[in-house]
Amino acid sequence: VAYYLSNIQKKAHLNVFLQVYEQEALQQAEEIDYKISQGTQGRLAGMVIGLKDVLCYQDHHLQGGSKILDGFVSQFTATAVQRLLDEDAIIIGRQNCDEFAMGSSNENSAFGPVLNEVDNLRVPGGSSGGSAVGVQADLCHASLGSDTGGSVRQPAAFCGIVGLKPTYSRISRYGLIAYASSFDTIGILTKSVEDAALLLEVIAGKDDFDSTVSHREVPAYSQALSLDKKVRVAYIRDTLQSEGIQEGIRNNMIAKLDFLKNEGHIVEPIELPALDYILPTYYILTTAEASSNLSRFDGIKYGYRSPQSDTLENMYKHTRAQGFGEEVKRRIMLGTFVLSASYYDAYYTKAQKVRRIIKEKTDELLSVYDFLILPTTPTTAFKIGEHTANPLEMYLGDLFTVQANVVGIPAISIPNGTDAEGLPIGLQVMTSYFNESNLLAFSKYLM
Ligand code: GLN
Repeated sequence: VAYYLSNIQKKAHLNVFLQVYEQEALQQAEEIDYKISQGTQGRLAGMVIGLKDVLCYQDHHLQGGSKILDGFVSQFTATAVQRLLDEDAIIIGRQNCDEFAMGSSNENSAFGPVLNEVDNLRVPGGSSGGSAVGVQADLCHASLGSDTGGSVRQPAAFCGIVGLKPTYSRISRYGLIAYASSFDTIGILTKSVEDAALLLEVIAGKDDFDSTVSHREVPAYSQALSLDKKVRVAYIRDTLQSEGIQEGIRNNMIAKLDFLKNEGHIVEPIELPALDYILPTYYILTTAEASSNLSRFDGIKYGYRSPQSDTLENMYKHTRAQGFGEEVKRRIMLGTFVLSASYYDAYYTKAQKVRRIIKEKTDELLSVYDFLILPTTPTTAFKIGEHTANPLEMYLGDLFTVQANVVGIPAISIPNGTDAEGLPIGLQVMTSYFNESNLLAFSKYLM
């Protein structure tokens, strides 16, 4: 704890932590030292973990990176966080993120951008940018983030670490601020696959507080990390040809595919025509769900209330106008539009149908292949401010990550070298529902 606290102080300019629980963490550490001396410590004894500012921790502030939750204090602890504590992990603080997890660069935070440690002029990715840099810069051992369309994998790729998004419903969402409920998953950011496996093993599984969580047994992921068979791997042919993908990313992916071929695995190119429809489907459905989820922030129940609240309607209007940032407002408006009576069928219903088709195509593919390999992102970390004027450009960066959330399957981003400038590159692997064990074993093999 002392080590991480001193790093946090030295690297305060990275803007990772919104709050550091210094005294608490030191006290927790002392208690765990005692347990260790008695041989009664939990499985995560002493593991120092940071929490993205979207996870409830009782009696601690929580803002989802937003001004609208100014002053809000959690009344209960998220199930995933409770399970960490029960195994003697130490929570070191809450981490900066894009407002309500909407973004790909951490520039949408009410608390300012997080800086990528590799190059301070570049973004760390988002929305779990603080959680990624926390691990990258050695400010904590691991972080919990959330992944609705890539928010754990994309910043992991930009920061050169591991980012795991498990199957939808594998981890309870109780105590996770909702962005798009049918997409949201808690995700794990670490330096090694071993740590990701151990953390998943601890936090996954059934929970009385989340009726959508899976009741499947949780395998001992950390005990099953060796790959003991030849696997079948698919990659999308276009990804190796497309101009839109940076050369370094393409080359490093080709090198990995060649390695697999040489090792005797089956590696085949496939076509995925549905790829063109995945991003629009994602942005229609997530904005729709977000517009509904965020209607609770009205100035009455949580956090900020505008001083200009002379009438009920003015309170709603001014609180939301002053409390939400630009990107969140844009999404609430888009979502309200696609759910409106005149456009519901044209956009929302159609996107739901396309979601089903994408799911079926992906299922088909993953019944033939064990894994689908993709770049995590088309580019490496971009410059702060590079895409702020053009939200569409920003959305395009999510091209490869959103599929796993649209479908609900597990996906991971692992480091895959760097480009000519030394910027980290991520490699993404997807697999079928609840196949995390094999995904983790395969990822370890690839690293
Ligand atoms: N970048 C994507 C978005 O802005 C993903 C966000 C996320 O996974 N929370 O919606």
